[in-house]
Amino acid sequence: MKFKNIKTGNIINVHHRLLPIFKFVIRSDEYVFLNDDLEHWITLNGGKNEKGEGKGQHVLINGSGTIIGGAGGKLNGTTLGGVKTKSKDVAKPKESETIITEPETEPEKEVKPKVPQIPEGKSGDFHSKTANELSENAKTSSQHLQAKNAHAVAANNISRKEFPEIWAHHYEQYKYHEEEYKKTKNEESKKIKEEFKKSEEGKQFTEAKNKYKKQTYQQIKDDFAKNFNLIIENGMGEEKKAQEKWKEYVKLKMSGNLEEANKVYSEYQQFSKKNPLLPKKQYNLNEKNVSSTYMREILGHVDSSFSDMEARGFDIKSAMAKGKVSFAPSPASTKSYGTAWQKDGIGFFAINPTLLKESTLLEIKERSQKRKEKGLPVWTVDERMGDPLRSTIVHEVSHALGLQKNINSPDKLGNTLQKLYDEGKLVGEKPIPEHLKGYYAINYWILHNISEYATTNIKETDAELCAYVTAKNYVTGTLPKELEDHVYELFGKK
Ligand SMILES: [Zn+2]
Repeated sequence: MKFKNIKTGNIINVHHRLLPIFKFVIRSDEYVFLNDDLEHWITLNGGKNEKGEGKGQHVLINGSGTIIGGAGGKLNGTTLGGVKTKSKDVAKPKESETIITEPETEPEKEVKPKVPQIPEGKSGDFHSKTANELSENAKTSSQHLQAKNAHAVAANNISRKEFPEIWAHHYEQYKYHEEEYKKTKNEESKKIKEEFKKSEEGKQFTEAKNKYKKQTYQQIKDDFAKNFNLIIENGMGEEKKAQEKWKEYVKLKMSGNLEEANKVYSEYQQFSKKNPLLPKKQYNLNEKNVSSTYMREILGHVDSSFSDMEARGFDIKSAMAKGKVSFAPSPASTKSYGTAWQKDGIGFFAINPTLLKESTLLEIKERSQKRKEKGLPVWTVDERMGDPLRSTIVHEVSHALGLQKNINSPDKLGNTLQKLYDEGKLVGEKPIPEHLKGYYAINYWILHNISEYATTNIKETDAELCAYVTAKNYVTGTLPKELEDHVYELFGKK
């Protein structure tokens, strides 16, 4: 691709592959694109023409800068000097875009340098070969990570003295994959975020998120009660004020001002009060801090998950009215993505804000990929559906609602599974091997048709089944109808 410097007349040739870089270097008011005959289209932008003609007009000029066409021919013969050109329209209008991407020559085939191999039988030959193979196929972040680790193993197993070049090669590759891993991981994270934003649920989420960003706790509480019959609890403490009062108290006590210190201490106690219904780590939605912001964002996801289900025929509002279900603004447990518990007749659920991080979502994706590569069944059903947040919300709500005394969903499910098995109706993706009987047969079916986590106990079977059947991508008929009906009953779908 040829470009001409307007001032000097020098012509430079740029390989099309270098164009993306070149575009940042050149100033388009200095260079113009040339076609092979050195004729090129430019856009005149006023300038020297005394009559003021030619303003914004497209003209074709030849290699020596003389206008040979365009502008109705009235400028033909004029030689350009110091005429400013518009940057965007350096080439013929509308064609400029295609010109950039059009290859001038056949792209050269990349010649891969031959990797020196460790002679067979020498220490590290297998590791070296494996690492090189992984390098060749590395595209995703997970593959780059595997390649990176494999090169480290190779370098550790090769004699650096005997094969210094090969050792250096593995070290270089290790560094290379480390960089690529970071890069691809970032790109994948961005993609996850963008994909979610574009989805229907993502749009609903953005709307809900913005709504709950500004509301007071009371407004949020009223909204969820009205729309979904869901109770929203609130943490009572005011962390920041409590900390300030504590510092003040310590200072006063040190200075011997005991009377004043006691007064401040009782104020401290007031600000550090906890809601007895919630776990120790609880957030006050009316406080302005990061934790409260995360909780509001999770509420946005609860809203969009529920709204999305309602749009697909689930009656969340009447389902929640069957019991007392409450959202706890708390991470509850650091070890799990979600937690549910029963207290004072209320079924609580909490979602860990770590699920808001793309890095967590990516970890889940990687874990899922690894299990798939190993031929293992899915760990949790969100791996089938690719919706960890929604899936976790429904999973925990299933516990919170299903374990209410008047509902007892897991017990019902246990009976249904037994009945289906007895009648030979427990069929699905993977049939039960003949040698398995009773409990083992049912467990096998759950493992391969729902998830591994679902085999933990019947409560988890119930929650996993609910997360599965309520998912947007769940195809009706994948599981026996009786199990779908079980979920439809709990979540109010007719
Ligand atoms: Zn669970």
